[in-house]
Amino acid sequence: MARREAPAAGPGSRALIVDVIRSAAAISRVELADLTGLTQPSISNIVRDLIADGIIHEIGSADSVRGKPRKLIAIKPANRFGIGFHLGPDTLTCVAVDLTGGVVGREVVPRPPADRLARQFDDFTAGLDLPRSRIEGLAIVAPTPYPDDSAAPDGLPALRAGLADRLGLPVMAENDAAAAALGEFWSRRVSREQAFGCIYLGSGIGAGFVFGGALFRGASFDAGELGHVSIDYAGRECPCGNRGCVERYASMAAVVADAARAGLPLASGPLDRGPLDRGPLDRGPLDRGSLDRGSLDRGSLDGGSLDGGVPSAEPPGAGGGSAVGTATMSSAYDAVARAAVTGDAAAFAVLDRAAGHLAVAATSMVNLLDLGRVVLTGPGAALAGSIYARRLRTHLDRTAHSRRRHPVVVELSAQPRDAASIGAAALIVQAAVAPGHTPGTSG
Ligand SMILES: [Zn+2]
Repeated sequence: MARREAPAAGPGSRALIVDVIRSAAAISRVELADLTGLTQPSISNIVRDLIADGIIHEIGSADSVRGKPRKLIAIKPANRFGIGFHLGPDTLTCVAVDLTGGVVGREVVPRPPADRLARQFDDFTAGLDLPRSRIEGLAIVAPTPYPDDSAAPDGLPALRAGLADRLGLPVMAENDAAAAALGEFWSRRVSREQAFGCIYLGSGIGAGFVFGGALFRGASFDAGELGHVSIDYAGRECPCGNRGCVERYASMAAVVADAARAGLPLASGPLDRGPLDRGPLDRGPLDRGSLDRGSLDRGSLDGGSLDGGVPSAEPPGAGGGSAVGTATMSSAYDAVARAAVTGDAAAFAVLDRAAGHLAVAATSMVNLLDLGRVVLTGPGAALAGSIYARRLRTHLDRTAHSRRRHPVVVELSAQPRDAASIGAAALIVQAAVAPGHTPGTSG
């Protein structure tokens, strides 16, 4: 049985009960009392309020060892909704989730200017027939810019305030990796007792952590910069100011740069022919055109600069200073990943090397926080997640400090490309139905 938590009903008891019901899927009041340590009268009161608020409902009975049938309660999914917007460099991913974290609507549109986000919210929710009265709010998420990134957009806090005024709804802001972690925690029904972490492979590499049911944010909503954990003190220079950051070896951009150096094709078209087509290296000249076209844009600011692959022996900036837009980088990465998982040995070697680098940093993260479960997600895990997961499992089995005490489970996200937007919407849901976990916004 799980350990007991709060001994008596208090301000956090409602959140505790919602969280236990969420992770159990269906549970009786007696089991709730056992798991939370709250008294039966407290449980009865809070459950009654939660039913009246439409957050939970009774879903039938189960036999009881004590003779009387026990009524089971569960989260009522379709009563309230959270909306999540993930601001990518070129696109905006919009999702709506119900109270269980289930996705009820999704749309990807070209990224609109900031002053059109409210209109997009109206269009998206109207298209889903979601009444405003059942929408708990909107969360917007984006990658965290580098510390000295003067070209970064104004930032989410300003955007958040403007949207909250315009929509008349709670609006939250968060970094993409942290939101993804909360989304995985919520929709996977992870128990609040697990020390839970998430690695987000996007244009950079981020991580998010959920402890005791609450997202860990650090002093300035900047916790989880796994990409800037150094794996080599004399390694590749990083725009963050450090050297050897794992992002420079294992991010999507670093993989694309390594693949280009290895002469791999970076256009997805020819690689789409299927698993038996094992000869991408034989198919014509290296397609570097797409790499040389891009100007320095948000892609490089997010860690997408192609000199991410410059070996440490070379001076910083070597590699021609070429950079590539994130959209192009992302399709080039997908081409390499698709080749790797369909039998191309050279592509596999590039990704496996990146995964090996990530495994070293991930072990440091796991050791520092004594994590029990890690989910790999983000667009970089969509096609090549299994390559990263295999490396992480093998390395953690050998090196995790806690390996004799508990396993460190490594899992792949079910919806890696949408994880940040789903997580954003889950932030809203959690803040609405299990308040107390979420301090507010990154403003
Ligand atoms: Zn760095």
